[in-house]
Amino acid sequence: MVRQRGVRDAGGSVWQVPFVRAWVSLVIAAAVVTAGAIGVAGPAASTSSGELAASTRWTTKFFISDSKKPGPTVLVVAGIHGDERAPPLAASRIRRWQPSRGKLVVVPEANRPALASGTRHSPRTKHPDLNRNFPTKWRAKPRGELASALWRLTTDLTPDWVLDLHEGWGFNRRNKKTMGSSIVVVPDDRVTGRTTPMAKHLLANINSSIEQRTKHFTKIAPGPLGSFARSVTEQLGIPSFVFETTRLTQPIELRASQHERLVLTTLTRLGMKPVESKRRQE
Ligand SMILES: [Zn+2]
Repeated sequence: MVRQRGVRDAGGSVWQVPFVRAWVSLVIAAAVVTAGAIGVAGPAASTSSGELAASTRWTTKFFISDSKKPGPTVLVVAGIHGDERAPPLAASRIRRWQPSRGKLVVVPEANRPALASGTRHSPRTKHPDLNRNFPTKWRAKPRGELASALWRLTTDLTPDWVLDLHEGWGFNRRNKKTMGSSIVVVPDDRVTGRTTPMAKHLLANINSSIEQRTKHFTKIAPGPLGSFARSVTEQLGIPSFVFETTRLTQPIELRASQHERLVLTTLTRLGMKPVESKRRQE
């Protein structure tokens, strides 16, 4: 019966049915809908996928690379803003990585209608900036179907870290009006013991790869109210970062490689460094 439920829910709405909201059931449902689970890091490791906001115009996939070894769960989200092209490109690669321990969960194209129209904002919806629709201390629930689906994924997974990939129009180091080339952290007593040393390590690492000082990454806090990463930390107590690259003068391949480097560096420091042979296959 579990199998039949999994198939039906995956075709309908995995996230709206209470009995599949437990994490264990999610894995079953996701594994059933995925054709050809692949094991790469050992006999037990697997890759599976599922759908968010199934049967709506917002529907989009998420991917789970499970090492089947105890360790952290890291959620990576890309494509919240449709005019930011590098994050979905980077995430399309990251989702194929097999962590050496723990689980890597990736939503490569969070906002497909906005990506299809190439706009920051979601078309034909009341609250068009998805990254302002997550819960705050004044608003307990997310706004709209897509923010609700992403939020439910996050609360069901309860990841140890959340990484949200974006890009800005200019370099924050030169112009404080843009968030480009920055790591956004959310100051919160529950997480700063983890995020402060991690951010320091990430900044040193990424900036060692950038020759021009004016293009170096900066640290920003706390990001906009109602944004995914800020809400994840403030409302759920989960450490989060936004990794922002810069479109100005930088080709998409460079921007995507910076996203990949930041995610890889995070995973490596968490002892989850992806299996090398798998990364080379991309
Ligand atoms: Zn953005």
